[in-house]
Amino acid sequence: MKPKLLLHACCGVCSAYVPERLVPDFDVTVYYENSNLYPSEEFDKRCQAAKTMAASFGLPFIQAPYDSPAWFRSVRGLALSPERGPRCEKCISHRLAKTFEYAKEKRFDCVATTLSVSRRKNVEQINRIGCALSDIFGLEFLGRDWKKDNGETLSQTRAKNAGIYRQNYCGCVYSLVAGQQSKVQTHTDPSTADLRLTISG
Ligand code: SF4
Repeated sequence: MKPKLLLHACCGVCSAYVPERLVPDFDVTVYYENSNLYPSEEFDKRCQAAKTMAASFGLPFIQAPYDSPAWFRSVRGLALSPERGPRCEKCISHRLAKTFEYAKEKRFDCVATTLSVSRRKNVEQINRIGCALSDIFGLEFLGRDWKKDNGETLSQTRAKNAGIYRQNYCGCVYSLVAGQQSKVQTHTDPSTADLRLTISG
């Protein structure tokens, strides 16, 4: 019997390739935990795309609740942090911790994430976070660099061929604003400091 693996997936593009690397050795379930996504319609679009790709591999798909307020609390004060910096550290920790929690509760044997398939992500950061959570939860973490062996190109090509939604920004409101090369102005109300953004330009 293959070990049960819970695969954190961030979108349809990442889910278009990584599962095929795991399926020969693991009993894979895809777990969509992405409360970082903004706006909520983006969460729904990427969820549908990830679900479509999971189905194409014949894999079970679980959608975690969209808890945007909890995610914003995790990254509070880090609105202007650069991509791959401290905000991303908190963001990835938040999502992977939720994934480990679920895996522990449902008695999975190990956890992995698709995140490292993107060249925009820091694989050392992802794997360090995964290993730390592995120690906390007592579950194995498969720290892989899915970009290797042309992984990112294969992901993009398969997603394109499948006709699924393909996003053009990392996911949170801050990355959306940065992608639009807009000027961001944070407000200082401590209850919503990171939530309220003014976009201009
Ligand atoms: S840029 Fe991406 S990884 Fe970083 S905080 Fe935003 S959604 Fe998370």
